[in-house]
Amino acid sequence: MQKKFIFLDRDGTLIYDRPGHYLTRPEKLRFYKSAFKALRILSAEGYQFVILTNQSGIARRWLTERTLDRIHGKLLQTLKKNRISVAGIYYCPHAPEDRCRCRKPKTALARRAVRELRLPLKNAYVIGDKKADVDLGRNLRIPSILLKTGHGKSQIQKFGDKIMPAYRARNLLRAARWIVRQQAKGKQ
Ligand SMILES: [Zn+2]
Repeated sequence: MQKKFIFLDRDGTLIYDRPGHYLTRPEKLRFYKSAFKALRILSAEGYQFVILTNQSGIARRWLTERTLDRIHGKLLQTLKKNRISVAGIYYCPHAPEDRCRCRKPKTALARRAVRELRLPLKNAYVIGDKKADVDLGRNLRIPSILLKTGHGKSQIQKFGDKIMPAYRARNLLRAARWIVRQQAKGKQ
């Protein structure tokens, strides 16, 4: 079977993103209840997962990279307990004003992941709760799904009549089911 994968955003997509509560401690990590089921459905369809996350809290010194590694260790451990494996987690540690090349919607981080993990961009999707995730999909020329969890509900007005996601889903589980339906129709 041909390799295929999904770029997943972290905050507001897999785990809760509480306004004003930047995640700085592993014990504060809270997954959306339906996320595990969603990922198992996609995994059964042959999808691998790559988490791409903007973590400007590093640049702002709200947390260290060591702490972020601990948070991601816990995240992977929790996913593993739920029988889900992730090919990689990639983060941008910069603030928007740093003008780096890796902060989503810029593509350097995604391209690095694809190169290192030897994944084909051809059958990929992006799923996230922010316009930056949808714009990343546009920049990579792959379809995106905007969730209504996290910041998702407020993002749609940022689009105007310009670029839109391929689909808007109530949560990650709905997004997973939509992808399965697309597969059944022979699209990606
Ligand atoms: Zn960056």
